[in-house]
Amino acid sequence: MQIITSKDELQRLCLDWRCSGVKTALVPTMGYYHTGHESLMDYARQRADKVIVSLFVNPTQFGPHEDLAAYPRDLAGDAEVASRMGVDVLFTPQAEEMFPQGHGTWVEVPELAKGLCGISRPTHFRGVCTVVMKLLTLTLPRLAVFGEKDWQQLAILKRMAKDMCLPVSIEGSPIIREKDGLAMSSRNIYLTPEERKQAPALQLGLQHARDLVAQGERDVEKLRAAIRGYWQQHLPTGSVDYLEIVHPETLAPLESVGRDALCAAAVKVGRARLIDNLKLV
Ligand code: AMP
Repeated sequence: MQIITSKDELQRLCLDWRCSGVKTALVPTMGYYHTGHESLMDYARQRADKVIVSLFVNPTQFGPHEDLAAYPRDLAGDAEVASRMGVDVLFTPQAEEMFPQGHGTWVEVPELAKGLCGISRPTHFRGVCTVVMKLLTLTLPRLAVFGEKDWQQLAILKRMAKDMCLPVSIEGSPIIREKDGLAMSSRNIYLTPEERKQAPALQLGLQHARDLVAQGERDVEKLRAAIRGYWQQHLPTGSVDYLEIVHPETLAPLESVGRDALCAAAVKVGRARLIDNLKLV
Protein backbone atom coordinates (compact mmCIF):
# COMPACT_ATOMS: atom_id res chain seq x y z
CA MET A 1 0.00 0.00 0.00
CA GLN A 2 1.24 3.42 -0.99
CA ILE A 3 0.81 6.29 1.48
CA ILE A 4 0.50 9.64 -0.31
CA THR A 5 0.32 13.07 1.31
CA SER A 6 0.68 15.28 -1.78
CA LYS A 7 -2.42 16.08 -3.82
CA ASP A 8 -0.38 16.59 -7.00
CA GLU A 9 1.20 13.17 -6.65
CA LEU A 10 -2.21 11.60 -6.04
CA GLN A 11 -3.75 13.36 -9.04
CA ARG A 12 -0.92 12.33 -11.40
CA LEU A 13 -1.27 8.68 -10.38
CA CYS A 14 -5.07 8.64 -10.60
CA LEU A 15 -5.22 10.53 -13.90
CA ASP A 16 -2.91 7.89 -15.31
CA TRP A 17 -5.19 5.13 -14.02
CA ARG A 18 -8.36 6.74 -15.36
CA CYS A 19 -6.78 7.34 -18.80
CA SER A 20 -5.51 3.78 -19.05
CA GLY A 21 -8.89 2.25 -18.17
CA VAL A 22 -8.05 1.09 -14.64
CA LYS A 23 -11.28 1.04 -12.61
CA THR A 24 -10.75 2.86 -9.32
CA ALA A 25 -12.91 3.32 -6.23
CA LEU A 26 -12.60 6.07 -3.63
CA VAL A 27 -13.52 5.68 0.04
CA PRO A 28 -13.41 9.02 1.90
CA THR A 29 -12.92 8.74 5.66
CA MET A 30 -11.82 10.68 8.73
CA GLY A 31 -9.95 7.73 10.24
CA TYR A 32 -10.00 5.90 13.57
CA TYR A 33 -11.19 2.84 11.74
CA HIS A 34 -13.81 0.37 12.92
CA THR A 35 -15.61 -2.44 11.12
CA GLY A 36 -17.93 0.09 9.42
CA HIS A 37 -14.97 1.64 7.62
CA GLU A 38 -13.63 -1.81 6.78
CA SER A 39 -16.95 -2.72 5.16
CA LEU A 40 -16.66 0.28 2.82
CA MET A 41 -13.11 -0.72 1.88
CA ASP A 42 -14.33 -4.25 1.25
CA TYR A 43 -17.22 -2.95 -0.88
CA ALA A 44 -14.73 -0.95 -2.96
CA ARG A 45 -12.22 -3.83 -3.15
CA GLN A 46 -14.86 -6.11 -4.65
CA ARG A 47 -15.83 -3.65 -7.37
CA ALA A 48 -12.63 -1.92 -8.50
CA ASP A 49 -9.10 -2.66 -9.72
CA LYS A 50 -7.60 -0.03 -7.43
CA VAL A 51 -8.91 1.22 -4.09
CA ILE A 52 -8.02 4.68 -2.83
CA VAL A 53 -8.89 5.58 0.76
CA SER A 54 -8.60 9.18 1.92
CA LEU A 55 -8.00 9.79 5.62
CA PHE A 56 -8.60 13.44 6.35
CA VAL A 57 -10.20 15.07 9.38
CA ASN A 58 -11.76 17.84 7.35
CA PRO A 59 -11.81 21.06 9.40
CA THR A 60 -14.40 22.70 7.14
CA GLN A 61 -17.12 20.25 8.12
CA PHE A 62 -16.81 20.97 11.86
CA GLY A 63 -18.71 23.86 13.43
CA PRO A 64 -16.93 26.34 15.74
CA HIS A 65 -17.98 24.49 18.92
CA GLU A 66 -17.60 20.94 17.63
CA ASP A 67 -14.98 18.28 18.36
CA LEU A 68 -12.35 18.98 15.66
CA ALA A 69 -9.40 19.16 18.09
CA ALA A 70 -10.63 16.17 20.13
CA TYR A 71 -11.59 14.00 17.14
CA PRO A 72 -9.90 10.59 17.70
CA ARG A 73 -6.85 9.89 15.53
CA ASP A 74 -4.61 6.84 15.03
CA LEU A 75 -2.75 7.07 11.76
CA ALA A 76 -0.46 4.08 12.39
CA GLY A 77 -3.36 1.80 13.39
CA ASP A 78 -5.48 3.02 10.46
CA ALA A 79 -2.66 2.39 7.97
CA GLU A 80 -2.44 -1.18 9.24
CA VAL A 81 -6.19 -1.70 8.80
CA ALA A 82 -6.19 -0.21 5.30
CA SER A 83 -3.24 -2.33 4.27
CA ARG A 84 -4.90 -5.47 5.64
CA MET A 85 -8.08 -4.61 3.69
CA GLY A 86 -6.12 -4.55 0.43
CA VAL A 87 -6.22 -0.79 -0.10
CA ASP A 88 -3.82 0.40 -2.82
CA VAL A 89 -3.45 4.05 -1.84
CA LEU A 90 -3.98 5.75 1.50
CA PHE A 91 -4.17 9.51 1.00
CA THR A 92 -3.39 11.39 4.24
CA PRO A 93 -3.00 15.10 3.46
CA GLN A 94 -2.40 17.88 5.95
CA ALA A 95 -5.19 20.46 6.30
CA GLU A 96 -3.18 23.08 4.37
CA GLU A 97 -2.76 20.68 1.48
CA MET A 98 -6.54 20.44 1.02
CA PHE A 99 -7.47 23.95 2.11
CA PRO A 100 -4.49 26.25 1.48
CA GLN A 101 -4.62 29.95 2.26
CA GLY A 102 -6.87 31.62 -0.27
CA HIS A 103 -9.23 28.70 -0.82
CA GLY A 104 -12.48 30.39 -1.81
CA THR A 105 -14.76 27.92 -3.61
CA TRP A 106 -17.59 26.07 -1.89
CA VAL A 107 -20.04 23.44 -3.09
CA GLU A 108 -23.52 23.35 -1.58
CA VAL A 109 -26.76 21.42 -2.02
CA PRO A 110 -28.93 23.68 0.14
CA GLU A 111 -32.27 22.01 -0.50
CA LEU A 112 -31.12 18.68 0.95
CA ALA A 113 -28.77 20.16 3.57
CA LYS A 114 -31.26 22.42 5.32
CA GLY A 115 -33.08 19.80 7.46
CA LEU A 116 -32.05 16.93 9.79
CA CYS A 117 -28.35 17.35 10.72
CA GLY A 118 -28.28 20.66 8.82
CA ILE A 119 -30.37 22.36 11.49
CA SER A 120 -27.81 22.02 14.28
CA ARG A 121 -24.83 21.83 11.88
CA PRO A 122 -25.57 24.59 9.33
CA THR A 123 -22.13 24.60 7.62
CA HIS A 124 -21.40 20.87 7.91
CA PHE A 125 -22.58 19.67 4.50
CA ARG A 126 -20.97 22.59 2.69
CA GLY A 127 -17.66 21.34 4.14
CA VAL A 128 -18.45 17.73 3.23
CA CYS A 129 -19.49 18.55 -0.35
CA THR A 130 -16.47 20.74 -0.94
CA VAL A 131 -13.93 18.22 0.34
CA VAL A 132 -15.59 15.31 -1.47
CA MET A 133 -15.69 17.33 -4.70
CA LYS A 134 -11.96 18.00 -4.31
CA LEU A 135 -11.23 14.34 -3.54
CA LEU A 136 -13.23 13.25 -6.60
CA THR A 137 -11.35 15.72 -8.80
CA LEU A 138 -8.03 14.50 -7.44
CA THR A 139 -8.78 10.79 -7.79
CA LEU A 140 -11.24 10.59 -10.75
CA PRO A 141 -12.73 7.31 -9.49
CA ARG A 142 -15.45 5.33 -11.28
CA LEU A 143 -17.19 4.84 -7.95
CA ALA A 144 -17.09 6.42 -4.50
CA VAL A 145 -18.43 4.61 -1.45
CA PHE A 146 -20.20 6.08 1.59
CA GLY A 147 -21.95 4.55 4.59
CA GLU A 148 -25.74 4.56 4.86
CA LYS A 149 -25.27 5.52 8.51
CA ASP A 150 -24.78 9.09 7.29
CA TRP A 151 -27.88 8.86 5.10
CA GLN A 152 -28.30 12.59 4.57
CA GLN A 153 -24.66 12.89 3.49
CA LEU A 154 -25.14 10.07 0.98
CA ALA A 155 -28.33 11.65 -0.44
CA ILE A 156 -26.61 15.03 -0.76
CA LEU A 157 -23.51 13.61 -2.46
CA LYS A 158 -25.64 11.61 -4.91
CA ARG A 159 -27.46 14.82 -5.83
CA MET A 160 -24.19 16.77 -6.09
CA ALA A 161 -22.72 14.19 -8.49
CA LYS A 162 -25.90 14.16 -10.58
CA ASP A 163 -26.29 17.95 -10.71
CA MET A 164 -22.62 18.52 -11.52
CA CYS A 165 -22.49 15.70 -14.14
CA LEU A 166 -19.58 14.06 -12.32
CA PRO A 167 -18.37 10.87 -14.04
CA VAL A 168 -18.66 8.81 -10.85
CA SER A 169 -21.20 6.50 -9.29
CA ILE A 170 -21.91 7.46 -5.64
CA GLU A 171 -22.75 4.24 -3.80
CA GLY A 172 -24.10 3.50 -0.34
CA SER A 173 -23.03 0.61 1.86
CA PRO A 174 -25.15 -0.77 4.75
CA ILE A 175 -24.77 0.32 8.38
CA ILE A 176 -22.47 -1.91 10.43
CA ARG A 177 -23.58 -2.31 14.04
CA GLU A 178 -22.23 -3.57 17.33
CA LYS A 179 -23.80 -6.83 18.57
CA ASP A 180 -26.33 -4.87 20.64
CA GLY A 181 -27.44 -2.78 17.65
CA LEU A 182 -25.54 0.47 18.23
CA ALA A 183 -24.27 1.80 14.88
CA MET A 184 -20.48 1.79 14.90
CA SER A 185 -18.94 5.24 15.02
CA SER A 186 -15.53 6.68 15.82
CA ARG A 187 -17.37 8.94 18.26
CA ASN A 188 -18.73 6.05 20.35
CA ILE A 189 -15.53 6.24 22.42
CA TYR A 190 -16.91 9.46 23.96
CA LEU A 191 -19.64 7.43 25.75
CA THR A 192 -19.29 6.61 29.45
CA PRO A 193 -20.07 2.97 30.41
CA GLU A 194 -23.61 3.95 31.53
CA GLU A 195 -24.26 5.93 28.34
CA ARG A 196 -22.89 3.07 26.26
CA LYS A 197 -25.36 0.72 27.97
CA GLN A 198 -28.29 2.95 26.99
CA ALA A 199 -27.07 3.86 23.48
CA PRO A 200 -28.55 0.82 21.62
CA ALA A 201 -31.99 2.18 22.56
CA LEU A 202 -31.51 4.77 19.81
CA GLN A 203 -31.86 2.05 17.17
CA LEU A 204 -34.39 0.04 19.19
CA GLY A 205 -36.69 3.07 19.27
CA LEU A 206 -36.61 3.24 15.48
CA GLN A 207 -37.28 -0.50 15.26
CA HIS A 208 -40.25 0.00 17.58
CA ALA A 209 -41.69 2.45 15.02
CA ARG A 210 -41.04 -0.01 12.18
CA ASP A 211 -42.97 -2.66 14.13
CA LEU A 212 -45.88 -0.25 14.56
CA VAL A 213 -45.84 0.45 10.80
CA ALA A 214 -45.93 -3.31 10.17
CA GLN A 215 -49.02 -3.44 12.38
CA GLY A 216 -50.70 -0.77 10.25
CA GLU A 217 -49.78 2.56 11.88
CA ARG A 218 -49.21 5.24 9.21
CA ASP A 219 -49.45 8.49 11.14
CA VAL A 220 -46.03 10.15 11.42
CA GLU A 221 -46.87 12.16 14.54
CA LYS A 222 -48.01 9.03 16.36
CA LEU A 223 -44.88 7.17 15.29
CA ARG A 224 -42.60 9.98 16.44
CA ALA A 225 -44.42 10.14 19.78
CA ALA A 226 -43.99 6.38 20.19
CA ILE A 227 -40.25 6.62 19.53
CA ARG A 228 -39.83 9.52 21.95
CA GLY A 229 -41.75 7.55 24.58
CA TYR A 230 -39.47 4.58 24.03
CA TRP A 231 -36.38 6.75 24.40
CA GLN A 232 -37.68 8.43 27.56
CA GLN A 233 -37.88 5.00 29.11
CA HIS A 234 -34.74 3.36 27.69
CA LEU A 235 -32.45 6.28 26.81
CA PRO A 236 -33.00 8.73 29.67
CA THR A 237 -29.51 10.29 29.35
CA GLY A 238 -30.24 11.22 25.72
CA SER A 239 -31.45 14.58 24.49
CA VAL A 240 -33.09 14.50 21.08
CA ASP A 241 -31.52 16.74 18.47
CA TYR A 242 -34.00 15.69 15.78
CA LEU A 243 -36.34 12.84 14.96
CA GLU A 244 -37.89 12.91 11.49
CA ILE A 245 -39.65 10.64 9.08
CA VAL A 246 -38.68 11.67 5.56
CA HIS A 247 -38.64 10.55 1.97
CA PRO A 248 -35.30 8.73 1.58
CA GLU A 249 -34.22 10.61 -1.56
CA THR A 250 -35.73 14.09 -1.30
CA LEU A 251 -35.44 14.09 2.52
CA ALA A 252 -38.78 15.92 2.59
CA PRO A 253 -40.70 15.35 5.85
CA LEU A 254 -43.71 13.05 5.47
CA GLU A 255 -47.11 13.31 7.15
CA SER A 256 -47.97 9.69 6.67
CA VAL A 257 -45.90 6.64 5.88
CA GLY A 258 -46.29 5.49 2.29
CA ARG A 259 -44.11 3.25 0.19
CA ASP A 260 -40.81 5.04 0.93
CA ALA A 261 -40.17 6.30 4.43
CA LEU A 262 -36.93 6.71 6.34
CA CYS A 263 -36.81 7.46 10.02
CA ALA A 264 -33.68 9.48 10.85
CA ALA A 265 -32.56 10.72 14.23
CA ALA A 266 -29.75 12.39 16.13
CA VAL A 267 -29.56 12.16 19.90
CA LYS A 268 -26.95 13.73 22.16
CA VAL A 269 -25.78 11.22 24.73
CA GLY A 270 -23.20 12.80 27.03
CA ARG A 271 -20.36 14.13 24.87
CA ALA A 272 -21.40 12.08 21.86
CA ARG A 273 -23.95 13.06 19.25
CA LEU A 274 -25.24 9.76 17.87
CA ILE A 275 -27.06 9.46 14.56
CA ASP A 276 -28.96 6.54 13.11
CA ASN A 277 -31.68 5.78 10.60
CA LEU A 278 -34.01 2.99 9.54
CA LYS A 279 -36.32 2.39 6.58
CA LEU A 280 -39.81 1.96 7.99
CA VAL A 281 -41.19 -0.06 5.08
P1 AMP B 1 -16.13 8.90 9.05
O1 AMP B 1 -14.71 8.44 9.12
O2 AMP B 1 -16.88 8.76 10.32
O3 AMP B 1 -16.27 10.24 8.38
O4 AMP B 1 -16.85 7.87 8.08
C1 AMP B 1 -16.30 7.57 6.81
C2 AMP B 1 -17.33 6.78 6.04
O5 AMP B 1 -17.65 5.60 6.78
C3 AMP B 1 -18.65 7.53 5.83
O6 AMP B 1 -19.12 7.27 4.51
C4 AMP B 1 -19.55 6.92 6.85
O7 AMP B 1 -20.92 6.95 6.49
C5 AMP B 1 -19.05 5.50 6.89
N1 AMP B 1 -19.42 4.84 8.16
C6 AMP B 1 -19.18 5.29 9.42
N2 AMP B 1 -19.71 4.46 10.32
C7 AMP B 1 -20.30 3.45 9.63
C8 AMP B 1 -21.02 2.27 10.00
N3 AMP B 1 -21.26 1.97 11.26
N4 AMP B 1 -21.48 1.47 9.01
C9 AMP B 1 -21.25 1.78 7.71
N5 AMP B 1 -20.57 2.87 7.31
C10 AMP B 1 -20.11 3.70 8.25
